[in-house]
Amino acid sequence: MTAPPAASDTLKLIGNTPLVRLAGASEAAGCDIFGKCEFANPGASVKDRAALWIVRDAEERGTLTAGGTIVEGTAGNTGIGLALVANALGYKTVIVMPETQSREKMDTLRALGAELVLVPAAPFSNPGHFVHTSRRLAEETPGAVWANQFDNTANRKAHIESTAPEIWAQMEGRIDGFTCAAGTGGTIAGVGLGLKAFDENVTIALTDPHGAALYSWYAEGELRSEGSSVAEGIGQGRITANLEGAPIDTQFRISDEEGLHWVERILADEGLCLGLSSGINVAGAVALGRKLIAEGRPAPRVATILCDTGFRYLSSLYNADWLRSKGLPVFPWLA
Ligand code: PMP
Repeated sequence: MTAPPAASDTLKLIGNTPLVRLAGASEAAGCDIFGKCEFANPGASVKDRAALWIVRDAEERGTLTAGGTIVEGTAGNTGIGLALVANALGYKTVIVMPETQSREKMDTLRALGAELVLVPAAPFSNPGHFVHTSRRLAEETPGAVWANQFDNTANRKAHIESTAPEIWAQMEGRIDGFTCAAGTGGTIAGVGLGLKAFDENVTIALTDPHGAALYSWYAEGELRSEGSSVAEGIGQGRITANLEGAPIDTQFRISDEEGLHWVERILADEGLCLGLSSGINVAGAVALGRKLIAEGRPAPRVATILCDTGFRYLSSLYNADWLRSKGLPVFPWLA
């Protein structure tokens, strides 16, 4: 047996997550589909990486100093990552979150000791939007920095420097395509740039949920959204600084029903309990695998991100009443 050696401190537990071949998705696509297990980070999501890079960057710039406060607006996972990193390094965290996000994320943030500020869900153009509220709070709080995950490119740097090289090594340099959805865009842009640096022939595909405006941007050069999604943490309506220059070759639009299908299959057949953005990513990966086959790539190998744990959504995604209230199909074993 080979187990990794002891880590020298808890922050070293961020990253170096496992990669797994997804049997059901591979069968559906007709080629190998792999999932990067970001739920295996200490904060149980892909956002631990961005949190660590943003905090280290602020320290290097000298904007975050001993005893300082990190303020952020987040759908929740970045807040959890920031709170963990802040606790490990002796900082305080103030997290602004829309009140529509999962109960589990709010409870987790409180449990970690973050100060939680809930605001009503509002469009980005509204000054009360969680991002603008967090910026104002940071400006008003002495010794505070604003993490600004959407437009702070330390976020995507985390994926250029850690996620992409890990995927490249775990795929043994044999990877034809990568896809995932965008919240801030840090993951798709950073992994895309990082993988292209190893091999420019890797196809990078954006998987957009309904209600987001990036599919039409990359397909037609116009920001336009259609429909809506209950997926937390994804669905972007603008080109964030993290998305600028992202090497997107192709794009898919994936419904919540398609994403839920993969959440259900992966849980029931393969035993992994995931959030909806992971299911949407897997649906995108299946679409990308099929597209690469149709284009004549022999036995393509596609990777995607399993963004966070489903245990974060027990009162929503895994609750029959909640699913029904959203008009979504209920997993047979919950009905
Ligand atoms: N899935 C979930 C559950 C998330 O919380 C996030 C982060 N907002 C993402 C996907 C998207 O990641 P990124 O911000 O890097 O685009």
